[in-house]
Amino acid sequence: MTRAPFLLAVLALSCGPAPLASDESELARARQRMVAEQIEARGVKDPLVLDALRKVPRHEFVPKAVAAEAYGDHPLSIGHAQTISQPYIVAFMTEAVRPRRGMKVLEVGTGSGYQAAVLASIGCRVYSIEIVRSLADSARTRLARLGYDVQVRYGDGYLGWPEVAPFDAILLTAAPEAVPAALVQQLKAGGRLVAPVGGEHDVQRLTLVEKDSLGRQKRSELLPVRFVPMRKGLR
Ligand code: SAH
Repeated sequence: MTRAPFLLAVLALSCGPAPLASDESELARARQRMVAEQIEARGVKDPLVLDALRKVPRHEFVPKAVAAEAYGDHPLSIGHAQTISQPYIVAFMTEAVRPRRGMKVLEVGTGSGYQAAVLASIGCRVYSIEIVRSLADSARTRLARLGYDVQVRYGDGYLGWPEVAPFDAILLTAAPEAVPAALVQQLKAGGRLVAPVGGEHDVQRLTLVEKDSLGRQKRSELLPVRFVPMRKGLR
């Protein structure tokens, strides 16, 4: 059960919106509760990850109309038919790449900028690519306003960010049908890449690619998930 986030998301949505959290201190309390009840309780242990999830104001990354639901146990719509992932999934994926201060990290699918802010809060040097120009622009502005040092590029994540590569870690937050070869190439020896892999209507597999010090790859499937599809090419 603890490993069925999508099911949990559906259940949470069908139970209606989270209790109204109207002011900042209530939002801060809701955030601490979110970490304790949704994230620690399901086995995420890395103190750097837990600390980042306690700090980053998730309600700033969702549309104002649903800010009070920002700490609920489910994904939320951020416009352009895109979603910000369920908090547990953000925490799980972040822990899976073992982020540490100073690491160079690539995110594909900036969306709201929340996942990028979590990585930046840990002290990673974050590069994030978004294929919807208006989302890239608004995430860049939001991250700067909130004081997160993140490089956001409007572009196609299939190509990665070759000028900055190689990366210590790569996270995909949109689902390709297979792990893009260019991204595996841009991963350092000893690096970790995590991606939801599978078709739009399938249950996707959250897949971890580890590169050892000799550059050999090991793949493992971590969790069934449901992400928006990774688009092919700029429009
Ligand atoms: N990480 C985000 C949520 C991502 S939703 C957050 O924390 O809010 C997935 C995002 O991936 C969407 O914004 C979508 O536009 C973007 N996306 C889809 N295909 C892409 C591609 N080929 N390259 C870059 N971004 C892509």
